Amino acid sequence: MGKIHAVRGTRDILPQEVRLWQQVEASAREILGRANYQEIRTPILELTELFARSIGSATDVVGKEMFSFSTRGEQEVSLRPENTAGVVRAYIQHGLQMAGDVQRLWYCGPMFRYERPQAGRQRQFHQLGVELLGSRDPRADAEVIALAWDLLRAVGAENLTLRLNSLGDPQDRLAYRQALVDYLTPLKEELDPDSQERLGRNPLRILDSKDPHTCAIVEKAPKLPDYLSADSRAFFEQVQAHLKALDIPYELDPYLVRGLDYYTHTAFEIVSPELGSQSTVCGGGRYDGLVEELGGPPTPAVGWAIGMERLVLLLQKKQLEGVARPLDVYVISRGAKAEAQSLQVAQALRQAGFCTELDLSGSPFSKQFKRASRSGATWAVVLGDAEAVAGEVQLKHLPTGQQQTLLQAELVKYLLSQR
Ligand code: ATP
Ligand code: MG
Repeated sequence: MGKIHAVRGTRDILPQEVRLWQQVEASAREILGRANYQEIRTPILELTELFARSIGSATDVVGKEMFSFSTRGEQEVSLRPENTAGVVRAYIQHGLQMAGDVQRLWYCGPMFRYERPQAGRQRQFHQLGVELLGSRDPRADAEVIALAWDLLRAVGAENLTLRLNSLGDPQDRLAYRQALVDYLTPLKEELDPDSQERLGRNPLRILDSKDPHTCAIVEKAPKLPDYLSADSRAFFEQVQAHLKALDIPYELDPYLVRGLDYYTHTAFEIVSPELGSQSTVCGGGRYDGLVEELGGPPTPAVGWAIGMERLVLLLQKKQLEGVARPLDVYVISRGAKAEAQSLQVAQALRQAGFCTELDLSGSPFSKQFKRASRSGATWAVVLGDAEAVAGEVQLKHLPTGQQQTLLQAELVKYLLSQR
């Protein structure tokens, strides 16, 4: 029979790699927990309208990349392409703004975008993200950036660059958009086809183009920060002052825009040169209008998302690996009665907290002993028929080879005393 493979653009994360993921997740839980961020888990399926209204229907994400379908003719739903929209929907639906002035939330889970699969770009990928809702204070922007920075460094990522820009408020952006369109329209024929199409729909996205000829044109385009109002400029300067005070280096990038429509003011990316063309590990920014856009009370907010696959790729390039939990005990047995007791012995050890593997092979003791040595366990517990009848076990300390006989009833107590 033919084999069935994983769907294009999705991949299996095998146990050895999962350990690295768990390490990143554990660091996130610790670092974000210390800043009083609470984990939130929202559904993978949401109404398509949620993404059209938040991310924007003129964006690539909504226009071209969503996995959308109707649930047997009832509702138009999509697999979430990102999770800020879902978190904000939950925030509004459950009235979380009532629970306090500020909500600090984090999440980690799978996202889906119909893109061309390549290294660091998949159709099912994972994001770990934070959202700080309810503060207009520039310290909030600096706090979330500092958390991303700390987390990435804590797990071992190096050579990172933080790129920063301000998109201003919606009026600033409108003025800039017009200036950009005025500059690009006479050059339209020279742009790549995608960018030509964006000129009418979503001109800011042209700044993001990877086409070399378009990039050269963009280099001389008007710069967003020149169109900021005095207030927007003052806000951006405060964010920068806080980052400086925290010793977080950054580069200003006047052409940095994000792919989602809802960003205002601060926009940032953390990139690594080691990731090739998929170099962005973390992207985020402020989105003061989104909660209202989705039917909630006016609520300023700021957040980011880290691409887990890209981060893990980066750590693997540094030859970092997650550590497996070491085995304490390897249980071997031979003979019907011994085999019957071996399971109970193993369970008792596990219940007492020992990481215990039970050999199920039924092969000769010599082979089971070899596996016990290879397993890395500290102890081998050996049960033959003689031990089974006497209610005993042989306990072998594998590093020294020392062996002794113990009553089964005493085994756990003895091992606990050896810890
Ligand atoms: P890119 O420019 O690389 O497409 P983006 O602007 O679409 O990124 P965001 O929507 O801001 O990305 O998502 C935040 C992060 O999620 C990205 O910086 C990246 O690390 C990760 N990410 C986004 N899309 C994918 C994907 N298809 N596969 C793997 N990771 C992804
Ligand atoms: Mg993208």
